[in-house]
Amino acid sequence: MRKWKEILLEQLSPDAPRLTINDATILYDEADINDLMHVSLARRKIQVPGNGVTYLVDRNINYTNICTINCQFCSFYRPPGHPEVYTQTFDEISQRISELENIGGSRILMQGGVNPELGLDWYLDLISNIRKKHPTISLDCFSPIEIEGIADVCGMSTLEVLVQLADAGMHGLPGGGAEMLVDDVRLDISPKKGSADNWLRVMSEAQELGLTTSATNVFGFGETNNHRVLHMDRIRIMQDNALSLGRVGFTSFVAWPVQLENNSFGKRNRGRNRIELGAGPVEYLRHISVSRLFFDNIDHIQASWPTMGLGVAQMAILAGADDAGSTMMEENVVSASGTKKILAKEEELQNSIIRSGFSPVKRDSDYNHLETLLLEKRDLVAAVPIQN
Ligand code: SF4
Repeated sequence: MRKWKEILLEQLSPDAPRLTINDATILYDEADINDLMHVSLARRKIQVPGNGVTYLVDRNINYTNICTINCQFCSFYRPPGHPEVYTQTFDEISQRISELENIGGSRILMQGGVNPELGLDWYLDLISNIRKKHPTISLDCFSPIEIEGIADVCGMSTLEVLVQLADAGMHGLPGGGAEMLVDDVRLDISPKKGSADNWLRVMSEAQELGLTTSATNVFGFGETNNHRVLHMDRIRIMQDNALSLGRVGFTSFVAWPVQLENNSFGKRNRGRNRIELGAGPVEYLRHISVSRLFFDNIDHIQASWPTMGLGVAQMAILAGADDAGSTMMEENVVSASGTKKILAKEEELQNSIIRSGFSPVKRDSDYNHLETLLLEKRDLVAAVPIQN
């Protein structure tokens, strides 16, 4: 078996060979965290040259909490008929987008449950309505399981649903719901969500239509480090295929550890040593570093401040992340499982990036740069303390 030092030394070279599943697992299991972060930061500087770290001013909108999928780690959903169910009206959603426009935001990320009461017409009306009222905002909406839910309700294929949503003005399909693309793990925590192949198929259809997509990863369900690398491998293979077909593929890889409060996964594991579940800061940084080295075909690796806090997100930049995520303005899904911070001011993200030794770059949903804080202005943005 190869030694982790040998693998890391090899990865320091600008023309390093592609990291294999075995070598990535060895790094995950054994590498010294300081050496690992050093090499993954060097790799980031080769793959994403320059000193910029991007961020996005956006808003999350969780339009309905009604869901029939019952993922064990989800604290957000309510089953149909539950007294706490809600579905936002078009006016409520539009009001939220106006608030985003007021702070110079450029996209909404709209996700909800799989609501059997909403047919395709409701979604098409929603997208067209927003498109008319807020023409400059990018609409990154839904996830593969929501698309499958709409397809079931209206008796169409997922591709047909995506075509109609794209025609109505949807800009992107975020990669929510990937969790672990390893069926042994996936089907244990979300049996009704279906296999990894389902998620990959719907995302591939979205990429075929030119929708903007990202790849996500929730980890810490008690799986092995090898499972985590296998998840990355499913995404890397799909990205290879997308690029070979001339598609943009995934813009980014976004990972965060499962949260354990207020959900049946946390309850089911109550007696268990919680250190085995989720991920602490060092394990999270290890995950970021390995993903940076593994994804030679996805440029952007995101740090997750909502789950890890801004302090750890700053460290993630030093582990090879080149994106600090987004302002969100509100977050109702992960925060229902115990995270406290649900929004970040733009200045907080800028200051976090500056304190990590990088320059903040405001971007849009497609990672186009909108605005870079000039070097001579790289003192901290005034009077905005960082709050984890
Ligand atoms: S994670 Fe999504 S699909 Fe799963 S129960 Fe929650 S809202 Fe439903």
